[in-house]
Amino acid sequence: AREALFQSQKMEAIGQLTGGVAHDFNNLLTAVIGSLELVRKRLPAGDRNLALIDNAMQAARRGGALTQRMLAFARRQQLDPELASVAALVDGMKSLFDHTLGPAIVLDIDCPATLSPVRVDTNQVEMALLNLVVNARDAMPRGGVVAVSAREIVVTAAMAASLSLGEGRYVRLQVKDQGHGMDAATLARATEPFFTTKGVGKGTGLGLSMVHGLAEQLGGRLQLESREGQGTTASLWIPVAGGEAEAPAAPVPATDAARS
Ligand code: ADP
Repeated sequence: AREALFQSQKMEAIGQLTGGVAHDFNNLLTAVIGSLELVRKRLPAGDRNLALIDNAMQAARRGGALTQRMLAFARRQQLDPELASVAALVDGMKSLFDHTLGPAIVLDIDCPATLSPVRVDTNQVEMALLNLVVNARDAMPRGGVVAVSAREIVVTAAMAASLSLGEGRYVRLQVKDQGHGMDAATLARATEPFFTTKGVGKGTGLGLSMVHGLAEQLGGRLQLESREGQGTTASLWIPVAGGEAEAPAAPVPATDAARS
């Protein structure tokens, strides 16, 4: 499970990096080609520099085609949303969780089947949840209880600000542990990419950053509460499909801006 998790975290990071670089690089190439076109127009017909300019333009266009391929790769990393039941999703992961947590940890699942459906990429939510469960396990080397629960919550105007969420109906998917918890400094940095306290070969520091990114993409939020020596509660707030707070239908990733 850890290997699969590392792999998915790395692909996510590579996808983001690739998309960002390809996008910026494409903009630079557009500027290069534009300038070359101008110079070309100013040269008299038959000028011996024309061939050089044409070579440069051709190379820049090839570079542009390459960035299109990189953008296509990055887009494959994007979400593929479908209507899903959180209870069914958690249920389907039960044996993986048991296996991941080992004999010293008791898994307590409480996800009512009556929750409203959410519109998510189930693979991504599964990976996010696995990340949270692995973190819970790693915080409890001597065992304890990991509680995975889901509740449907209406966020009212009065609650919205303190939760940093928009008003509307959400499914709050929660992973609660009784582990060592985090001090304020660790908690503040926990969702930073590559921030880890687990040491070489044990953590990538990409887990919570991935969960945080997913929550934002869904129009929800990753909420972390922790007390040193007592435990941590990670809550993934996902807007209910059709609830007022649903994310915009087509969130335009930055990487798509230079598609044409
Ligand atoms: P990784 O698990 O690879 O270190 P994460 O982004 O998932 O990366 O977590 C970053 C850091 O946040 C961890 O190294 C740890 O210090 C802290 N952390 C995350 N979850 C928990 C938890 N449930 N209990 C205590 N600390 C946690």
